[in-house]
Amino acid sequence: MKIGVLALQGAVGEHIQMLEKAGAQAVSVKLPRELEGLDGLVMPGGESTTISKLMHQYDFMEPVRHMGQAGVPLFGTCAGLILLAGHIEGLDQAHLGLLEITVRRNAFGRQRDSFEAELDISGVAEGYKAVFIRAPSITETSPHVDVLATVADQAVMVRQGHLLGAAFHPELTEDARLHRYFVEMVRESKATPTD
Ligand code: GLN
Repeated sequence: MKIGVLALQGAVGEHIQMLEKAGAQAVSVKLPRELEGLDGLVMPGGESTTISKLMHQYDFMEPVRHMGQAGVPLFGTCAGLILLAGHIEGLDQAHLGLLEITVRRNAFGRQRDSFEAELDISGVAEGYKAVFIRAPSITETSPHVDVLATVADQAVMVRQGHLLGAAFHPELTEDARLHRYFVEMVRESKATPTD
């Protein structure tokens, strides 16, 4: 099983280490041709507008969208979640537009630019210490989306089939339970190919 980490911005090395800790082979993806043969893809946090610009510049948008449409598991964290979202508050256009959610960027305000919260993530992890950095929240979800965790009544982690999204940074802790959960999603999707 080979999982890629989109390496345009963000904590790429940390995601790779966590995926390896979770038992997967992990590679950084700097060029679209490196997407070929991947069983899953992690899209790290950073700045969503910057990552989006770089994705357009390096011709990543179409192939990544195609992977998502073809049922390859994708995991977006923080800015990566914003990239996956179908709607972004205040913007006319989504980036990849794969996940049936609306996100609000920088939803937790200036006072709480960065914070930690202990989450019970449904079916994934209890007592999970999540690191939020200028994090988005998920303000709307379609009936196809499961909300796995909330903070102050705001959804911060969701799953829609093969798409997983977290508003926080699971690569910045020692706790590999979320990466293990994603690796398991990838293993299941390999066992039951959708196309
Ligand atoms: N605030 C950033 C954005 O809107 C996301 C922050 C992050 O990925 N840590 O893109």
